Amino acid sequence: MAYYAGVDLGATNVRAAVADGDGNVVSAYDRDTPQGPTGIAVTEAVLECLRGACSEAGIDPAEIRSAGIGSIGPLDLAEGAVENPANLPDTIDRIPLTGPVGNLIHSDRVHLHNDTNAGAIGQRFYSDRNPDDMVYITISSGIGAGVTVDGNVLTGWDGNAGEVGHMVVDPQGRRTCGCGHDGHWEAYCSGNNIPEFARMLAEEDGGVETALPLDDPDFSAKDVFENAGLDAFADHVIEQVAHWNTVGVTNVVQAYAPIVVYLGGAVALNNEELVLKPIRERIDGGLLNNVPDVQLTTLGDEIVLKGAVASALTEGTGDKTRAPN
Ligand SMILES: [Zn+2]
Repeated sequence: MAYYAGVDLGATNVRAAVADGDGNVVSAYDRDTPQGPTGIAVTEAVLECLRGACSEAGIDPAEIRSAGIGSIGPLDLAEGAVENPANLPDTIDRIPLTGPVGNLIHSDRVHLHNDTNAGAIGQRFYSDRNPDDMVYITISSGIGAGVTVDGNVLTGWDGNAGEVGHMVVDPQGRRTCGCGHDGHWEAYCSGNNIPEFARMLAEEDGGVETALPLDDPDFSAKDVFENAGLDAFADHVIEQVAHWNTVGVTNVVQAYAPIVVYLGGAVALNNEELVLKPIRERIDGGLLNNVPDVQLTTLGDEIVLKGAVASALTEGTGDKTRAPN
């Protein structure tokens, strides 16, 4: 029997899974992501998870035919590595991936993707109709997209296409993004930025009556969504987030003409009514292109891991016709 492996390398956790030729996960293994001392420690954690998942499945790593990796970025695709990862400590400059994983499984069939591209591959492979034109957008600590056009996953020369969170949505540029530029989608609507956006809105209004703990350093996006319908200012913030999310998703749809837009990431997964529904209701109003289905991902928070498995099965494409069985 042939086996395939997937790896989800995130800033806080590493996960690996072993699957059969139909994409059924037969074992998995996870651990925390080492925060140093160097990138090699992260590479070793990835190998530990792969060995662990193989051991759970009762197989030798050399029995893995092909592996897929969905990773935090930015990537250096030519080197098969992560280069100066934005969300890990500065001492971690380089995380070699495809070489060491290939050595472990005795195969050069190792496919590396950024996590949102892996998400698009997974959603495409595991959805019933295997759409050739689709977008996966994650709204979590940041915002990003994986895009499939005419059956091709768009990666860009260096593997970093789809950084849609850094598109300008607010021409007034009232919020500065973590990347240093003004008016980016992510600076208004990602989980990490919603609290600061709320504080800005309160200041613009010259102070507001609200139950939200705006001055608390632990004030989070969760507080905002939990107060929906209970606090007028929370509703105002949610409305503003919905507005900028709709602008962002509309731009993505205009650019790529997807048939389906799948949304994932913790902010979308935990708040379907408040985050996804307004986009679905409003997107028609700003589009020249056909209106796509706007859906929550069916793979939840396993989408990157499942996508890595799907990549291993389909030579990095998510195209079911290229799967072994
Ligand atoms: Zn930015």
